[in-house]
Amino acid sequence: MQVGAEKIVVLGTGGTIAGTAASAEDTIGYTAAQVGIGALLDAVPGLAQAAGAAQLVSEQVAQIDSKDMDEDVWKALALRCAAHLADPGVRAVVVTHGTDTLEETAWFLHRVLAGARHKPVVLVSAMRPATATAPDGPQNLLDGVAVAATPGAHGVVAVAAGEIHGARGVRKVHPQRLHAFDSGEAGPLGWVEQGAVRLAGGWPAAAESADSALQAVAQAAAWPRVEIVLSHAGATGRAVELLAADGVDGIVVAATGNGTLHHRLQSALERAQAGGTAVRVSTRCPLGRVLPRPDDTLPDARGMGPVKARVDLLLELLARA
Ligand code: ASP
Repeated sequence: MQVGAEKIVVLGTGGTIAGTAASAEDTIGYTAAQVGIGALLDAVPGLAQAAGAAQLVSEQVAQIDSKDMDEDVWKALALRCAAHLADPGVRAVVVTHGTDTLEETAWFLHRVLAGARHKPVVLVSAMRPATATAPDGPQNLLDGVAVAATPGAHGVVAVAAGEIHGARGVRKVHPQRLHAFDSGEAGPLGWVEQGAVRLAGGWPAAAESADSALQAVAQAAAWPRVEIVLSHAGATGRAVELLAADGVDGIVVAATGNGTLHHRLQSALERAQAGGTAVRVSTRCPLGRVLPRPDDTLPDARGMGPVKARVDLLLELLARA
């Protein structure tokens, strides 16, 4: 590397983008997280050019199917991202990741990375394994690196199928199609067209208290346990009783509609809350947000869907510990 040259650091965590199948036609019977990050990048023609004047360097942080993502991998990833973002020689960080829990990782990184205020952290994934006849990973990598190299880019974003999504809005909405992500009512932040970024609005705003959140993550000896339960026809509340008896620290409930809960589940959650379990009410509706009412007995999740509300509660409990 030339002295003074900027770097774009690509952190590998696994996922389908690094997956392999026995045959090129197989796009569902593959094993995720098989190809190392170096080999993955080497297989994409034009990637160095997409990085512009920056040099691409890679590091393997994890090698997992993101369905198995956990807090320890988040911690390791956040600390590596933070260290690279703090390096004046690093222009941006790209993270290769599975699609299944990408939205949770994106929100977690957004909440803890103060360094993303001025530099981008770009999550890149794929719906087809690296061995597929027409894999989508290489194009997503090209687009992700192009976003990373874009002057003025900042914030935690996901780049897939030619779209740029912010950490707050991004969610996986389809189990197979290549265009698997959207940002709900907000729509994408922008698009990558032949290596050029076209923004619909601005880059994501900075996260509040990211510095102290990262400090709490770095110092965490043990993680709080936060589980998600669903309100549905016939809900009994028994799952909540068992979780509370088992010492769970927090429960996010994916409520129906505007935070409504089956009365049996509501009673169980109120009892759990009275017993010291932190409860947050989100909605299972894919669009919109819960509008809290003055007589609510359980606090709402401040507009976040269940999986991102869980990240928020995890960080809140960690900060209290
Ligand atoms: N199960 C895979 C993962 O999340 C799915 C994917 O990457 O598309 O790692």
